[in-house]
Amino acid sequence: MKQLIEFLSQNRIAYLENEPMALHTTFKIGGAARLMVLPQSAEEIAKTVKACREYGVRYMAIGNGSNLLVADEGIDACVILLGKGFDDVRLLDDTTIYAEAGAPLIKVCRFALEHSLTGLEFAYGIPGSCGGGAFMNAGAYGGELKDVLYRCDHIDENGEPGFLEGAAMALSYRHSAYYENGCIVTGLYLKLQKGNAEAIRAKMTELMNRRKDKQPLEFPSAGSTFKRPEGHFAGALIEGCGLKGATVGGAQVSEKHAGFVINRGGATCGDVLALCGRVSETVKRETGVTLEMEIRVTK
Ligand SMILES: Cc1cc2nc3c(=O)[nH]c(=O)nc-3n(C[C@H](O)[C@H](O)[C@H](O)COP(=O)(O)OP(=O)(O)OC[C@H]3O[C@@H](n4cnc5c(N)ncnc54)[C@H](O)[C@@H]3O)c2cc1C
Repeated sequence: MKQLIEFLSQNRIAYLENEPMALHTTFKIGGAARLMVLPQSAEEIAKTVKACREYGVRYMAIGNGSNLLVADEGIDACVILLGKGFDDVRLLDDTTIYAEAGAPLIKVCRFALEHSLTGLEFAYGIPGSCGGGAFMNAGAYGGELKDVLYRCDHIDENGEPGFLEGAAMALSYRHSAYYENGCIVTGLYLKLQKGNAEAIRAKMTELMNRRKDKQPLEFPSAGSTFKRPEGHFAGALIEGCGLKGATVGGAQVSEKHAGFVINRGGATCGDVLALCGRVSETVKRETGVTLEMEIRVTK
């Protein structure tokens, strides 16, 4: 770790030591990351990955931390945070947007609206970055990134640039090839269609209002706790088992939407995991359905 830090200093790559992850996750939970790198370019990501390999330091990419539950003891690794400074969004042609992985999905939706491009309205309100969105194949209200994302640029495990396109991205429900390949997504190519700005704006407003109406946005969370089990909705199953409002420490099954575990104040990772365990055991026992976590537990 010491050599890696020296390398970053020499190469003027921004980093923080012992940075509390609670400041970088929408759950506001998690101990410190031993090292957090804040790259401003794909080249800096590549250099960091190569140096991590050389010095034997584990690394992981994060975006906005909106799908993460970080361990209370923190992350003894190099966290590469793709965010501010690596968030450029531009038009490649009339209907194609290129977004750096650190760009918030919401920023890209607004950019699409400015250029009267339709197809991304579903993502307005998903609080993730483009990189996290591609990794998760984020989706909502009948749309998913898979519908518009045709290529991702990345830095591979050897620190070399590369890309995946089309079927090779293996985009499916809350899954992509990036779950398995260890690459860091650096840029997204999105194919949209010319549309009517007022219609696009109206759709975005409608979907945002639906979120505000249904989701417990007033509390920290990481969105839907569990994936949608085939043929069911996790929230409905959890509510049907009488678990709305169930609490462990500071973690609670939201009273507004049972599909969300919220941090109602002072929740630890341990609280959330204990509550999720109780919820999935109860749902399995009462309904026979197995719930799978959508939230990524990280240490
Ligand atoms: C209130 C709320 C509402 C939500 N609503 C939705 C919704 O409607 N639909 C939906 O799909 N999700 C939703 N989410 C979950 C979350 O916003 C998405 O999963 C989002 O895509 C995660 O992006 P992120 O940048 O925050 O990723 P992070 O949480 O930072 O990371 C998630 C995973 O992606 C990996 N990752 C992140 N960036 C990269 C990268 N550049 N390269 C490689 N791997 C990377 C991380 O290692 C981690 O495993 C919601 C969350 C909240 C808090």
